Amino acid sequence: MKVEMTHRVLDWRNRRAWLQHIRSYAKPLLLTPKLVAVLERRRPQCWSDVMEWLPDHHDLVPEFCDRMSSYYTHFKAFHGCRPESLSSYYDHGLRGQNADSIIKKFRQLFADLPPASLDRAIEKMQHRESSERGKTWLSGDDRQMVRDFGHYIINGSEYLLALAAKLSGGHYEEDYRLRLRTIGIPTVLEVDIPIELIPPAQKLEVAKMILSEWGQLRTKRPLGISSSPCYVVRSDIPAECIKAHYHPARIRDFHHCIPTYINKTVRCDHCPPASELA
Ligand SMILES: [Zn+2]
Repeated sequence: MKVEMTHRVLDWRNRRAWLQHIRSYAKPLLLTPKLVAVLERRRPQCWSDVMEWLPDHHDLVPEFCDRMSSYYTHFKAFHGCRPESLSSYYDHGLRGQNADSIIKKFRQLFADLPPASLDRAIEKMQHRESSERGKTWLSGDDRQMVRDFGHYIINGSEYLLALAAKLSGGHYEEDYRLRLRTIGIPTVLEVDIPIELIPPAQKLEVAKMILSEWGQLRTKRPLGISSSPCYVVRSDIPAECIKAHYHPARIRDFHHCIPTYINKTVRCDHCPPASELA
């Protein structure tokens, strides 16, 4: 008999669900008459970055984080990219940033420019090579990503964009960054990141964000800010963690005079057949 592994995913977009889950893993910790009474009486502002509002926060926050981390098996997150094909993602998963392959692509894409100016741009970016090596950036909420930081979806890797930006100015008239928009397919990958791949500091960040939202409900004092977690994963994420993908048709564009980027390629070879879409 096959043993079903429990698969519990924190999906930041489903606020109601993760607020309910708190009862399952942190009830004895948070829902004590004493703590609730203090919050309801004092009604502090329940920030996520300053936890002074929470009594015993030095002990309570790490304990809450431990419980949350044992409850969930995965954090759902979204990766924005502009690959030429999705094959490599479905074959090898998400592999962290590799400057060598980005530089190779950069040289191909700008093969018509003097090699010396390409070399100069590559050299100017060298300081970022090692600090960013092996990292993958993901966001807890795809809607927010498409709205507020969709440039990875429009241009592809930030590193490639920065290389192209280094070519502009000086003798050249063209904005070379726009050339990145001529290759690849704007894509959002939906990924269930195994919790053990999330760095501890980022788990703690999520725990504080959940506590903050919970506190705001308890005190009935909403802070009126909505943010979603960001994840920087330093190891490869296996292909089976990719749950879906799509190609957004409209993306907010901060690097262009036209504020909305219209993507006309909304299907690729790896999209599920139309018959499977409900
Ligand atoms: Zn597709």
